[in-house]
Amino acid sequence: MKKFLCVLLAVAMLALTFVACSKGGSTEDTTAADDTAKETLVMATNAEFPPYEYHEGDAIVGIDAEIAQAIADKLGMELKIEDVAFDSIIPGVQSKKYDMGMAGMTVNEERLKSVDFSTSYAKGVQVVIVKEDSDIKTVDDIKDKKIGVQTSTTGDIYATDDFGEDHITKYDNGAVAVQALVSGKVDCVIIDNEPAKSYVEANEGLKILETNYVEEEYAICFNKENTELRDKVNGALEELIKDGTVQKIVDKYIKA
Ligand code: GLN
Repeated sequence: MKKFLCVLLAVAMLALTFVACSKGGSTEDTTAADDTAKETLVMATNAEFPPYEYHEGDAIVGIDAEIAQAIADKLGMELKIEDVAFDSIIPGVQSKKYDMGMAGMTVNEERLKSVDFSTSYAKGVQVVIVKEDSDIKTVDDIKDKKIGVQTSTTGDIYATDDFGEDHITKYDNGAVAVQALVSGKVDCVIIDNEPAKSYVEANEGLKILETNYVEEEYAICFNKENTELRDKVNGALEELIKDGTVQKIVDKYIKA
């Protein structure tokens, strides 16, 4: 049946055939239980961002991982998660190495030039983590301080814009940035609120400033040419938002 469909496609859509057949996986290997091999949905993430994505034993779990799984289930696809550096997610989506990027990723102007985004499924807030006895009381006090950020995140982008490159130290991930704060190499860390909470919980003597730095929206990114997949995934995501599944997943990880 699949083979027949591909032949039809070949006649109808010449150039698209190759993509359709190769993406659709095998046209011949069928199993007794399931006569259509599932198409894979490759999601790139950076699993150092609790509670959105993090390692639990061998598995990558978290809000994004579960929403992506629900999307794949809805579409009858097989989800495959690739754990990569945050700043290689967008380039990998652009080169079609990954079908989509989902990593608590904020939608912003700059990124919209390189990739398309889904409907937003969560809000993020950039916050400031300091030591409990810090003289930094509000965002206004961080001007002349040493600021730690995670490379290429919006925290990095905004802080570099607002306070200048000289004040910023970039780290591979949030955990390393927070270790630099603990050991006194930087005076504060600017990072998303949910991972901030788990870092503060895991390290003695830290707190999050009450004033928020920047508010933002998280969404899934896609290759600009891959509008078919974008629309399919986005449609499934919107249904999962509407029927309360997304909220249920968020509530499982973020206690009010
Ligand atoms: N929300 C931030 C961004 O998109 C951080 C995301 C992350 O570190 N995974 O840049």
